Amino acid sequence: MRPLIAHIDLDALRHNYRLARRCAPYSQSIAVIKADGYGHGALACARALADEAPAFGVASLDEARVLRRGGIETPIVLLEGIFSADELAEVDAQRLWMAVHSRWQLDALQAYTPEAPIPVWVKVDSGMHRLGFAPDEVEAVWQALCDAPQVGELHLMSHFATADAAASEHYARQLACVKDLACRLDAPLSLANSPATLAHAEAHGAYNRPGVMLYGSDPLEQANAVSRGLEPVMTLRAEIIALRTVGPGERIGYGGRFCTRAPTRVAVVSAGYGDGYDRHAADGTPVLVEGRRATLAGKVSMDMLTVDVSDIPEARIGSEVVLWGRAANGAVLSVDEVARHCQTISYTLLTGVLPRVPRRYH
Ligand code: PLP
Repeated sequence: MRPLIAHIDLDALRHNYRLARRCAPYSQSIAVIKADGYGHGALACARALADEAPAFGVASLDEARVLRRGGIETPIVLLEGIFSADELAEVDAQRLWMAVHSRWQLDALQAYTPEAPIPVWVKVDSGMHRLGFAPDEVEAVWQALCDAPQVGELHLMSHFATADAAASEHYARQLACVKDLACRLDAPLSLANSPATLAHAEAHGAYNRPGVMLYGSDPLEQANAVSRGLEPVMTLRAEIIALRTVGPGERIGYGGRFCTRAPTRVAVVSAGYGDGYDRHAADGTPVLVEGRRATLAGKVSMDMLTVDVSDIPEARIGSEVVLWGRAANGAVLSVDEVARHCQTISYTLLTGVLPRVPRRYH
């Protein structure tokens, strides 16, 4: 078997979920497990959290179906609602909650007769300008939904664009906008994503919606005492499959981007962009070899990458190489740090691990 496995630590997932709950003791914390649990396996994550989470957040009916077919009975909220009116029958049958962000969704709901009233989350565009009703439309929409016999419990939701920033006027404006609406409508609120869960108690509502923090990634621009306690859930573990020493002035990998300055011991590692490891990883991107930090030397290939292990004499064929996560000796390399070297964010690295990489649950 090719030595590349995504190890998923479900105890770490539960630990991070409990941290989210401890940040917001007066809120219910929905576990956001869309995009296949941010690449970790939504069903496995849901099963691990089923006794603790009051609900799960997913992006689509397909994602909800996977959970229901896997035996998950917990409420599930469709964070983007339905994509066509004919999805309502299944929303009803599967007892899902749904966001409503557009007039056509409201019309479809009003034209449908469900078995039981459907809980609805009215999405407000408080300034991100992605999904949601404009603030001046919300009162009318809310009233229409209050009057609709198809609709069960009603919530107001919005999503922040900059809750991760240390200080953001944009965040403050979004918060003020939704709080004002919630006050006027006497509506229960759901606002907080991971950064707001971790750093903005004033945004905590009836339901928070932490996502990436559950997987151990710190979304804050400046870490705080709680976010430092997050534990990595995924460890992407490969091995050294070849080793060679090259002289000074040699070029390594495609395009010859990396040029050695001195005799260099180069390890070839069993992971590449064909597994979802980011091809934009720069020379100097860290990995852990036998639990010690080493760095990428040369461009990432489809099935392999190359690492300078000149300072790790114990490196040999078969040595453990952790691309992010926790090494056997306990050393941790955060996916956030790797993402910075790839000019991206942890979300894309975690969701980008491709199906050919087996997930192993612990
Ligand atoms: N709520 C909504 C509507 C989202 O779209 C997302 C993720 O994009 C989340 C919550 C979770 O966000 P995060 O992963 O930053 O906690």
